[in-house]
Order: sequence, then structure tokens, then C-alpha cells
Amino acid sequence: CTRAWHQVQGHKTCAPNNFKQYENISQLYKPEVPEYFNFAKDVLDKWAEREKNGEKLQNPALWWVNDQRAEIKWSFEELAFHSRRLSNVLSGPCNLQKGDRVLLILPRLPEWWLVNVACLRTGTVLIPGASQLTARDILYRLHTSKAKCVITDESLAPVLDSVAHKSDFLKVKLLVSDRKREGWMNLGALSRMASSDHTCVETKSDDPMTIFFTSGTTGSPKMTQHSHCSFGIGLTVNGRYWLDLTEQDVFWNTSDTGWAKTAWSSVFAAWIQGACVFVHHMPRFDTTTVLQTLSSYPISTFCTAPTAYRMLVQEDLSRYTFQNLQHCLSAGEPINPEVMEKWKDNTGLNIYEGYGQTETVLIAGNFKGMKIKPGSFGKPSPAYDVQVVDDDGKAVPNGTEGNLAIRVKPLKPFCLFTGYTDDPERTAQCYKGDFYLTGDRGVMDQDGYLWFVGRVDDVILSAGYRIGPFEVENALIEHEAVAESAVVSSPDPIRGEIVKAFVVLKTGFKLHNQDQLIAELQRHVKKVTAPYKYPRKIEFVKELPKTVSGKIRRVELRNKEWGRP
Ligand code: ATP
Ligand code: MG
Repeated sequence: CTRAWHQVQGHKTCAPNNFKQYENISQLYKPEVPEYFNFAKDVLDKWAEREKNGEKLQNPALWWVNDQRAEIKWSFEELAFHSRRLSNVLSGPCNLQKGDRVLLILPRLPEWWLVNVACLRTGTVLIPGASQLTARDILYRLHTSKAKCVITDESLAPVLDSVAHKSDFLKVKLLVSDRKREGWMNLGALSRMASSDHTCVETKSDDPMTIFFTSGTTGSPKMTQHSHCSFGIGLTVNGRYWLDLTEQDVFWNTSDTGWAKTAWSSVFAAWIQGACVFVHHMPRFDTTTVLQTLSSYPISTFCTAPTAYRMLVQEDLSRYTFQNLQHCLSAGEPINPEVMEKWKDNTGLNIYEGYGQTETVLIAGNFKGMKIKPGSFGKPSPAYDVQVVDDDGKAVPNGTEGNLAIRVKPLKPFCLFTGYTDDPERTAQCYKGDFYLTGDRGVMDQDGYLWFVGRVDDVILSAGYRIGPFEVENALIEHEAVAESAVVSSPDPIRGEIVKAFVVLKTGFKLHNQDQLIAELQRHVKKVTAPYKYPRKIEFVKELPKTVSGKIRRVELRNKEWGRP
């Protein structure tokens, strides 16, 4: 859609509401999956070639900055050059072969992107991990992934050393640092000595490319395996239709390097489109830094988590001008309509929500040009036949709540994950009848828009009513005192379960009379949504338990309520 449109109009996006003529974009999106495919060779090197021939707009492939105003800009050619040298390090001194697993735990440093590309070139299987991982988390990942090589920086090297001896598989430790460390090879020093000639290994489209640990929102993170084509070709949908990227764009996605969303947005989807990946290496999410960055760099497209938008709209946005910003997106959790409205009031821009999982690429989204219905995460992605099904895997009529599911028969979509690594039973449990079940509940309306109800385990059953936490959280955040909240079930002798809200108050309301505030919030929820959903219990908390990627861990609060370990 966008490509054809740019060529014809020389314009950046589909004209508003033009999406209608592409309603059935699945008809446009029928990529042929070749037998062999490698993203580095077949996509990145092609951009580098175009750059060399003057056939590509001047826009860096990677634009990296940090809080100290250091800056690195790499063209596709420079990215290719550095990554080829690193590939020679992986296959030379590190002695890694195609199929060997590489655990990469780095903050947002340029080397993170180089390792991504070098793993593609060498056919080694990349396993990213978040840099906030503890020794215990790392040991769990080393054990379950059987990684042969680990790559990290100085901050985590001691943690790794404390557990590395417990792994039977780990053979190589590669350090990103200016200094030497006993027992570690140095990535920078070896790369500088390595040749920049490297022949990319042949990879079949369905060879394993990466293993991601899921966010761990509901339990232990699961090792989710993807093939070369599932991300390398499948994420075209994200880049082209959802992010609406072109060669002109500068795209900033703030997610942590350990999360699949970073591979989606800051590697594959952006580079498929030849866009510039912008990275700000912030030690932690800071609203002032984010707003200043959006105003001082020519960022055209911005994607962050709902939790970040909730923090951003509490700032005085009128102090900033985002001159280049044209397209804003969010994913990972539901975004509250209230937050979308505040963002639009201050920036003039909508937030286009996307819905997906580590196991999938984008499942559904609000695509540029499409009418947004606040509270709905849009329509199915052209890559998938998304249906709402009952527990037996039978499609339910529009307007009925059920399991959000993807059709996998007669053909399994190539961009769906290969399986949970070494866990065929768990993989099999995701499938029912002709469908892959996401584990999420939702509704499709008459216009084909999907509405999120909650994760299967998060839905509250109170006195015969089914209540999705999101609806109650949306009602609460509309109240001026509420910064954010998490709604879970709590045991009740009569109703079985009741609705309980954990509420974080805005600064100005922390000293208010708590009993009065509880009564007021309960009245407010009864007024703005069906009264049976109001939280019979409310507890004020300083913060909510969240995953590294910023998702609310309702399971933790629920377990506390029910006295479970
Ligand atoms: P785990 O599977 O380990 O419990 P996780 O499901 O949070 O963790 P991810 O794969 O990162 O791991 O997240 C996918 C899930 O995030 C989806 O199944 C859904 O529950 C939620 N999600 C993603 N985007 C949205 C969205 N726009 N609206 C509502 N929920 C979303
Ligand atoms: Mg999940």
C-alpha cells in the first residue's frame, strides 16, 4: 500500500482514510517464501548496494546517541563493513558454527546491532536478553538455551562469571569494553584486527534464526524460536503497513534490547523499509530526556509502550515542539483511550496501537489511514487470518467474547514461531483445531475491529459476570487522581471473586483522605462503565509490579490476593 502510494504520489503515507481501498490488504500481501533467505545478504546488503549506486536517499541505517551527547551514524555500507568484521570474529577466534546459540545481553549499544547482523551472516542463533537480568535469570537462560557463546559488557561480566561455570555448554565469552577482562575475549579488539571480507552462510528460510524469551508477564519466560523468514520477511507487515516507514524516516522505538519488540521494530521492520533506526542509549526511561530527544532530532516515527505514554502525558507537553514527528505507535499492552486523547490534544497525533506476541509478528493493528476506534487495537494483520474462537477452536459470531486465534490450517503462516525450543508439549498446547490460540481473550465487532478483553488468566469472574481488567483500568484512569492502575480478582466468600484495583495516585493526590478517595473512585467507575465492574476493593500503591518491558504483572498482585506463593 504505502510503497505504491509513495511511488505514485511522492508522498509519505497513505492519504487519511485511503486505507479503505486496501481493506483486504491480505490480497496484496502474498510474499513468496524462497527456499534460501538471509536478511543480511538479501536485504541489508541490497540497501548498501543501492546506497553505493546513489539509488537510495541519504539517511543513516543506524543513528545512535547517548546522554553524554556522543553520537554514531552508520550507513548501510558501514553497518555491513563492521558486521562482516564481527562475523569473522564469531567464526574465527570464537569458533562458532552455523546453528550455535549466542546469548546477547547488552544495553542499547551500537554493538548490539552489529551482533544481530553478524549472527545472521554466520547463521548462528541469536538469543537476546535484557541487561537488567540477575545472576539467577542468566543462569536460567544459559541452562535452557544451551548457549555456546555469551556477549555482554563490563557491568554484567562479573554476574556472568558468577554463574558461567554451572553451564555445560558455554565455551566462549565475548566482552564489549575498552578494557581487558580475564577469561574473556574482547569484541572490539578482535573486530579491529579482523578482515572485512566475509561470505554470508547459506541459510534456508526455515532454518532457526533467533530464540526470544517471552516477557514473563504470566510466568517463566518461554523460549520462542523463529526462522529466518518469519522475522526477515514476516515483519514487512509491521514496517510497511503499521509503522508506515520509508527510506526517509527516522524511527525511534524505545523498547529494551532483550524484548522481541526491539528485533521487530529496531532491526527488521525498519531495515526492510530502508528507514533509519534511531537509538537513544538511556540508562533508564526518563520522560524529560524522551521529550527533549523527540524535539531535538528529526524523528518522524515514534513507538513506545503504553506505560511510557502514561508517564509522558503527565508532563507539560506544551513546552515541546516535535517538528518532524508524524506517526506514533504503541504495543505490548492495551493503551488507554484517555491517554490517546491527551497525547492527541497536545501533539495533534493519534497513537496507532498494535497487538502481537513474541510468538507472532503483528497480529492486528491500527494501520495508517484507517479510522481508529479508541480502545480497539484495530484489524487483523494481512499476514494472518485472525478469528475469535471458543475453547474448542470454533469461530464465534461477531460481538461474542472468545479466544483470539490465528488460523493455521491448511497452511501454517510462515511468520508464526517455529515452536517453544525443546518443549513440544507446550508448543502443542497452543493449538486447538485449525487455530493457534494466543492465550488472550477478545471480541471482533461488526466492522472487523478487535477489542482486547484480557489475558485468559486475568479475566475476573464475579457473581456470574466476566470482567476484563482493562475496562476497569480505563475507567479509573479517567479520574484526575489516577496515574495508573492494575485490576485483578480477589477472593470473596459470596461472589467467589471480586474486582480489586491497585492504584498509583498522581503526585497532587497522595495526601488526600484515602477513604474518601476510595469512595469517590468507586462512584466514578460506576458512572463511566457498567456498575457491576466497579472495584469493591481499592489499595493505593507507590508503583505496580512490571516486567522489564514495562508490562503490568497482574499475576503477581493476584497471587498476593489469593495467598499463593
Ligand atoms: P509471557 O508469555 O511470558 O507471560 P508476554 O505474553 O507478556 O509474557 P510477550 O510476547 O512480550 O510476552 O507479549 C505478548 C502479549 O502482550 C500478548 O499475548 C498480549 O497479552 C499482550 N499485548 C501485546 N500487545 C497488546 C495490545 N495492544 N493490547 C493488549 N495486549 C497486548
Ligand atoms: Mg505470552
